[in-house]
Amino acid sequence: MEVIVYSVLIFIIGLCFGSFFNVVGYRLPNNMSIAFPPSHCTNCNHKLGKLELIPIFSYIFQKGRCKHCKEKISIFYPIFELITGVLFVLCYLSYKDVYPELLNILFVIIFASSMIIIMISDIKYMIIPDEVLIFFSIVLIILKLYIYFKTENITSYIDIGYELIFILLDGLIMFIIMYLIRLFGNMLFKKDSMGGGDIKMMTYISFILGWKLSIVVIFLASFLALPLSIINMYKKNEHMLPFGPYLAVAALILILLKVDFNTIINLLH
Ligand SMILES: [Zn+2]
Repeated sequence: MEVIVYSVLIFIIGLCFGSFFNVVGYRLPNNMSIAFPPSHCTNCNHKLGKLELIPIFSYIFQKGRCKHCKEKISIFYPIFELITGVLFVLCYLSYKDVYPELLNILFVIIFASSMIIIMISDIKYMIIPDEVLIFFSIVLIILKLYIYFKTENITSYIDIGYELIFILLDGLIMFIIMYLIRLFGNMLFKKDSMGGGDIKMMTYISFILGWKLSIVVIFLASFLALPLSIINMYKKNEHMLPFGPYLAVAALILILLKVDFNTIINLLH
């Protein structure tokens, strides 16, 4: 019973955050302020009233159109609100029994939030904003160290220092691997094979998951991206597809299933 009440509550909170992530994901790549101007219709600049700011419901009641100018509102907005709500609940359900529960749930929810913002801005603009990666790296590394401090028998602050160095090394190793993949890809295809944003994004993911599991993320993402890439090639569509959303989905799958590198090695044996 308790689980259902919490799930519903977290779902509603997730919807509201999703609404906020839509704003962040759209405005940051355009170097616009997140806070000003307040939410408005991008067509007629009509400022949205309270009733037009309710996640999903506003979209449904207004039949997907601006109340003022009747311009169609992108289905993108309610979809990402819904995705955020569902993801938050999955984070909660997946980590509600992992000590320290509250910190772990918070950790995955923050990570999921970063992935959603990246998906939105990469799909819309093919940009993964540096600000997002830097902000979430700092917040999550601090939180990760705190969880480590809480769960392991830490006797001195030097241990935390070591842990921090390991986390930073994870990022560095991944950065080098991605850089080499890019060099190799550029040689093979004789054109830019990977965006710099993907390299930075994988460095961030590696801080969180470690470099070994992050390699699994790349493989899983490539696998997920395969069908669309083939269609793209078949249509002789030259423009590049954003890879960030696939990396995000792959990372989320691994973290929600609580996959660690050893389980994968055991599966392969
Ligand atoms: Zn309008």
